[in-house]
Amino acid sequence: MSHLLSGNQAIARGAYEAGVTVATGYPGTPSTEILENTVQYKSDIYCEWSPNEKVAFEVAAAASCAGARTLVTMKHVGLNVAADPLMTLSYLGVEGGMVIVVADDPGMHSSQNEQDTRNYARFAKIPVLEPADSQEALDFVKLGIELSEQFKTPVILRTTTRVSHSRSIVKFSQRQTNPRTIGLEKNPARFVPVPLWAREMRKTVEKRLHDLQAAAVQSKANRIEWRDKSLGIITHSVVYHYVREVWPEASVLKLGFAYPYPDELFKQFAAGVKDLLIVEELDDFLEEHIKALGIACKGHDVIPNIGELSITTLEACRAKMEGRTIAPIPEPKYAKDLPARPPVLCPGCPHRGIFYALGKHDVIVTGDIGCYSLGTFK
Ligand code: SF4
Repeated sequence: MSHLLSGNQAIARGAYEAGVTVATGYPGTPSTEILENTVQYKSDIYCEWSPNEKVAFEVAAAASCAGARTLVTMKHVGLNVAADPLMTLSYLGVEGGMVIVVADDPGMHSSQNEQDTRNYARFAKIPVLEPADSQEALDFVKLGIELSEQFKTPVILRTTTRVSHSRSIVKFSQRQTNPRTIGLEKNPARFVPVPLWAREMRKTVEKRLHDLQAAAVQSKANRIEWRDKSLGIITHSVVYHYVREVWPEASVLKLGFAYPYPDELFKQFAAGVKDLLIVEELDDFLEEHIKALGIACKGHDVIPNIGELSITTLEACRAKMEGRTIAPIPEPKYAKDLPARPPVLCPGCPHRGIFYALGKHDVIVTGDIGCYSLGTFK
């Protein structure tokens, strides 16, 4: 039976089907609805909103080290808060599968920056999966748990606002069960990265990256679609769908498992097309590496590296590349008369009273990530 789900709802379903038993998180747009939807499976999955992303990460990591399958959710800036345990867990590895869902916000619809979480995957030397729609969001949670257990590594599942909040058709499957016995083995050499053992772990991380690279080349999450070979496009995430609309005739290498970089796929695809274009949202994560392989391509010289990509943006890029002009899209008829609706603190927000009191004094107030920044507005 088919269901119409948002990417976030599909991730929750994916956690259920993958046999996850512990799901933690800290809210933040566009990731929040994942845990809210996971709660419907509470008879099978322990769920908690944690005090912050670091705690959420550590609760999930500890459960994974004890053999449980886990999911932890946060928005992109939340991974900065959880970066300390992320870097160490990469060395320790996991026993039960662990998927770290990080929702990026290109265009800053509800965020203070445009961090590209793919860089964290490379930084921490762990895999990153990028779904393009809700079915892939569900499937990639299961793939992430599989990879995590096979290679004993945490896996990042990176979504963007458009994947998290768009709805598309999803097919459900039965819940898998975790065959492991849950319980933490008291084994310092396995779980304590003092230099004596961390140096060995460091070698394991490099070997794991090498093995994961071979898995990325073979993975069904990456696929080449041969069409006209005069132009080949390498793309990822929801941008794949925009590319298919704007360049329907072009050959495409669609990446859902982009790190460790599947170099053999890059080389095979590049050798099969006349011109190569990289269409990626935010950083030149793919382009820089592909150029370092000695493969000539265009990328952010013709595709913006700021803001969210869209069909409209890419149509303008294509027209410019082909020396054409396209008519500007007219402004919607009533748009200019609509009142502005800037984001505000929720009516019952406990921060309101604090900001009301602070507002009576001539003081400078500092905060961290999250809604508190809305205290700026009167
Ligand atoms: S504005 Fe306040 S109540 Fe609303 S989500 Fe943010 S912290 Fe919570």
